[in-house]
Amino acid sequence: MSEVYAPPVQRLITELGKLPGIGNRTAQRLAFHILRVSDEDAGALAEAIREVKQRIGLCEVCFNLADGPRCRICQDERRDAGLICVVEEPGDVIPIERTHEFRGRYHVLGGAMSPIDGIDPEDLKIAELLTRVGEDVDPPVREVVLATNPTTTGEATALYIADALRERTPEIAVTRLASGLPVGADLEYADEVTLGKALVGRRAV
Ligand SMILES: [Zn+2]
Repeated sequence: MSEVYAPPVQRLITELGKLPGIGNRTAQRLAFHILRVSDEDAGALAEAIREVKQRIGLCEVCFNLADGPRCRICQDERRDAGLICVVEEPGDVIPIERTHEFRGRYHVLGGAMSPIDGIDPEDLKIAELLTRVGEDVDPPVREVVLATNPTTTGEATALYIADALRERTPEIAVTRLASGLPVGADLEYADEVTLGKALVGRRAV
């Protein structure tokens, strides 16, 4: 690309263009917007990005986002520790929470198995899940709900985990969200009524 803009402007456009869903034109528009706003507003944006990267890590128990060693849900004694909902990404916890149908805890895998992209079971928090449900804790884990996305990779991941759980901890029920979710879509985009029904109607796998 020809160097139309001064290097700092070009750098900002390049960085913004790396964000998902932001093409070059949108990146340019955002960059010019940032150039127009006050120093305070631009500084607040930069500081918010810096702070989230410094303060937010992964929960040591469930790998959800946390601003300390444990996330809010794992710290909440009222949440049923005997019921674990397995999701792909931290962003999937929010739509499930919005349904108000789930009072258990979570386990965030950090993605889904995808041989094409080189994502193997070892790249996800599957071993950690198997260890967690196998631990001698009170109350013991009695059900694992597999809420990976209804996509090819999400289904493959759910099947893999279901097999592993059946083999290692056959006493624990393994369930999958009921059908009704749009096939191929991400949980993130499911409306809460559909997702709530899928949770209530979950079936054994
Ligand atoms: Zn947690």
